Amino acid sequence: MGSVSHPDVIVIGAGVVGVACAFELSKAGLKVLVIDKGAIAGGTTGAGEGNILVSDKDIGPELELALRSREKWFEISEEIGGGFELEAKGGIVVANTSTGADQLHSLTARQKKAGLFVDELDAAALRAAEPFISPEFESGFLYSQDAQCQPMLATALMLRKFRSMGGEVLSHTKVVGIESDNGGVKAVVTTGETFPCRAVVNAGGTWAKEIAVLAGSDLPISPRKGFILVTQAAPNLIRHKVYDADYVTNVVSADEGLQTSAVVEGTKSGTILIGASRERIGFDHSLNIAILRKLAAQAIEIFPVLSKIQLLRVYHGFRPYAPDHLPVIGEDAKVKGLWHCAGHEGAGIGLAPASAEIIAAQILANSAFMNAAPFSPNRFSSEFPEPQ
Ligand SMILES: Cc1cc2nc3c(=O)[nH]c(=O)nc-3n(C[C@H](O)[C@H](O)[C@H](O)COP(=O)(O)OP(=O)(O)OC[C@H]3O[C@@H](n4cnc5c(N)ncnc54)[C@H](O)[C@@H]3O)c2cc1C
Repeated sequence: MGSVSHPDVIVIGAGVVGVACAFELSKAGLKVLVIDKGAIAGGTTGAGEGNILVSDKDIGPELELALRSREKWFEISEEIGGGFELEAKGGIVVANTSTGADQLHSLTARQKKAGLFVDELDAAALRAAEPFISPEFESGFLYSQDAQCQPMLATALMLRKFRSMGGEVLSHTKVVGIESDNGGVKAVVTTGETFPCRAVVNAGGTWAKEIAVLAGSDLPISPRKGFILVTQAAPNLIRHKVYDADYVTNVVSADEGLQTSAVVEGTKSGTILIGASRERIGFDHSLNIAILRKLAAQAIEIFPVLSKIQLLRVYHGFRPYAPDHLPVIGEDAKVKGLWHCAGHEGAGIGLAPASAEIIAAQILANSAFMNAAPFSPNRFSSEFPEPQ
């Protein structure tokens, strides 16, 4: 085991993904240093709603990762003593168009075969579950495995536990270089110091491409912007995460243009969160009132009562987008000892613990709980050919 100047592994990024990796590696007995250019959870994690969802995933590797991750969030809660508003509140998906309803029926049929708990709700059951839902909706699907947490608290409390186990953290310290030779990674260079080490985890989220480039590699990760509206506290008005079936279509869309679909949920602190917009326009920080109006109108269509609830604030964040919507988890194709754990797009909070488990298994050359080949960074290698 090394000291802070000789860590076994350096994790770049103190968002939920990097901290989950650091925690997992630390539990496995490795000496880990986490470095972040900003504050803890100051990247996209600070903008996330905190949903730990299985409902929005079709069958395949991401659903497998999501199911494992959901289980692990409850284990982590036990390990760190809770405190991050984790609750298995359940998700309800509704459709107000016949296309949406058809897509939802076929998705739920596939998900049920894969072992998800999905219950169809008739009008009475839907209203019993969500008393304030619009009478326009006559049925829905309840996913009891969907859960929620407060992502900044989750990250901070995991980090606290990590530190209590001897882990080290440097915030407000930018990584500006990653040195390597034929044997692989040799050191991480920050604005202040150089830290020798043989293994690096790139958990740079939306900035993971920049970090890969620092090491002489590349990753096709780019920002996918999203706005969230936050209302005044209105406890118990909305009891589940409730969203329109179009949300699932938007999540998997490769369209660069704007997509919006209503996602409404109450939180333990009482505020109601309203999303979700998606657009790939780079790191554009401008406020777009038209999008906010559209999100509010879509939410009011599902819950008319929201027209009487005061909006407190709005904010935006940048989801780390990979072209095939799958996270990038695994060792770099070109740089030995550089492990990527990034590109979780709109699901990084939900998927962080199981992604970290895969990274730890791979670094320690243990077998993981699933075949992680679909997440391998090598799947993009043909996009970054060697110079001739
Ligand atoms: C509006 C919105 C709502 C969302 N809602 C949900 C949700 O409900 N559920 C869900 O699962 N996901 C949600 N997401 C997605 C989720 O927030 C992200 O997938 C997740 O936070 C990514 O975590 P991360 O740790 O990979 O990235 P980040 O949290 O961005 O962490 C990366 C860190 O790397 C650091 N970094 C970058 N470059 C360097 C460098 N050179 N040197 C040092 N440090 C560096 C950054 O400062 C940053 O702190 C949402 C996202 C948005 C935008």
